[in-house]
Amino acid sequence: MQVKLVSNVLKANDQIAADNRRLLARGRTLVVNLMSSPGSGKTTLLERTIAELGEACPMAVVEGDLFTTRDADRIERLGVPVVQINTEGGCHLDAQMVRAALQDLPWEGRDILFIENVGNLVCPAAWDLGEDLRVAMVSVSEGDDKPAKYPRMFREAAAVVVNKLDLLSMTDFSLDRLEEDLRLLNPAAPIFCLSARTGEGLAAWVAWLKGRVAAKRDGAATVGVAP
Ligand code: MG
Ligand code: ZN
Repeated sequence: MQVKLVSNVLKANDQIAADNRRLLARGRTLVVNLMSSPGSGKTTLLERTIAELGEACPMAVVEGDLFTTRDADRIERLGVPVVQINTEGGCHLDAQMVRAALQDLPWEGRDILFIENVGNLVCPAAWDLGEDLRVAMVSVSEGDDKPAKYPRMFREAAAVVVNKLDLLSMTDFSLDRLEEDLRLLNPAAPIFCLSARTGEGLAAWVAWLKGRVAAKRDGAATVGVAP
């Protein structure tokens, strides 16, 4: 019975996600759901991406967090509109939370809406928020086995970011092994190896994002892998 209950809740979520997608489609805003474990560097990647893209690419951010506003404070400091969702211990964002956040966020007319999901590699993957595409992130200090262990997150990703490249030599992380495992699940997603801290490798990620923004603006049918 428990299983049925979960599936009904997910079905209701998918309907709200579809509403979000319709609403967001009005603005031709690219909506990116950024997911990873806690501490992989999602907020640091956002800070860097905001700095790189600058005013040429206006953004807005929804920050999912268990309790604090620390990440939202970091984004706000950069002058980007941000709404914090505190899940009060909840381990993922759902479409209803995003719908509520959109009411308080001036997202319309902006090129990208980033949704930083709660740090968790498991259930965020099951919750459609109305995004255009998902980005799954892993840092080298977590190990290269994440795609194999958390297949859904990586199967549905339009791109995979490998962060903390500056620490690579201090770990046993193998980029080849990660890529091998990822390709079994996801043959096409580009992999961006970078250090959000130093900026190494960031250019390719930023160029890819710009391409997705242009595709969205042109009304391309598929700007990413929508779940
Ligand atoms: Mg964060
Ligand atoms: Zn959860």
